[in-house]
Amino acid sequence: MRDVYAGIDIGGTNTVVGLFDERMNLVMKSSFATVKPDRIAGAAPMLDRLAEEVLRLAEDSGAGGRLRRVGIGVPGQIDAALGIVRDASNLGWRDVRLAAEMKKRLDVPVVIEHDVRSYAKGEAVGGAGKSCRDFICLTVGTGIAAAIMVDGAMVRGANGLAGEFGHDIVDGEAAPCACGKSGCLETIASATGIARLAEELVLSGRIPELAARRGSITAQHVYQACMQGDPDAKALFERVGTLIGRKLAGLVYALDPELIIVGGGVAAAGDLLLEPIRQELRRHCPHQASYLKVAAAQLGDEAGLIGALHTGLIGDERAGM
Ligand SMILES: [Zn+2]
Repeated sequence: MRDVYAGIDIGGTNTVVGLFDERMNLVMKSSFATVKPDRIAGAAPMLDRLAEEVLRLAEDSGAGGRLRRVGIGVPGQIDAALGIVRDASNLGWRDVRLAAEMKKRLDVPVVIEHDVRSYAKGEAVGGAGKSCRDFICLTVGTGIAAAIMVDGAMVRGANGLAGEFGHDIVDGEAAPCACGKSGCLETIASATGIARLAEELVLSGRIPELAARRGSITAQHVYQACMQGDPDAKALFERVGTLIGRKLAGLVYALDPELIIVGGGVAAAGDLLLEPIRQELRRHCPHQASYLKVAAAQLGDEAGLIGALHTGLIGDERAGM
């Protein structure tokens, strides 16, 4: 019987489980709807469902093997060393002893990590960040957040909040943010922000090709309008990229990375988003411009699975087992 490993990405809507062989190649993948917390049992029904899915995959005749280790990426504030999810508002979890509870159910070592750091770790293992020891990895999706690797080690900060720059305020902006503040970077530079700003433009008669979609415009629709050559849709992506570049400049001065990886759903817009980021960084950080690269993430959703599995294995002495 061969050894198998599980890398898991818990999301607010769906949870993805990847099963890997000894050489860390993905051999099977499945997903299920994340189970909402129970008023009395809390996160337990979700943890039971997750354990059941991991065991089902491990026992499947196609992959069939002895489960050796599990890594889990979670959207929220994590204490990786203690294996505790402090606060994951998307999941409705507070102080969930995730690593210990899953170890009890699966009887193998379980490590946990913030989902953006898992994603970045995946890109570091086999994607855009391969052989790079100093980089910043952004995910631009429903929200925006960064994971930071310095000298080969993931930076978590004193309370696991390192890289949450989506809640840094942009001067002159006032849209309410899910976090309770107003004018956060995330209210503009995210799929949600792009959709909101496009709705405003359409309301004032701009981006006519989206007029019929009023009320249900997504960032992807705005991207399609760009592809059709709409100048206002293009200007919107440029505004978002420029803003991200402006905020990144501060991080570049603080950390001196050699690479910035941009991933997440909105990054599918490619150079439409990356080029304004590059331009703004060249403008603000001319001394770093000769070596600082801005590249798209390469692994897509699998980055999170690969990274979760590698938590605690490379450049990550502080993650508990
Ligand atoms: Zn916020």
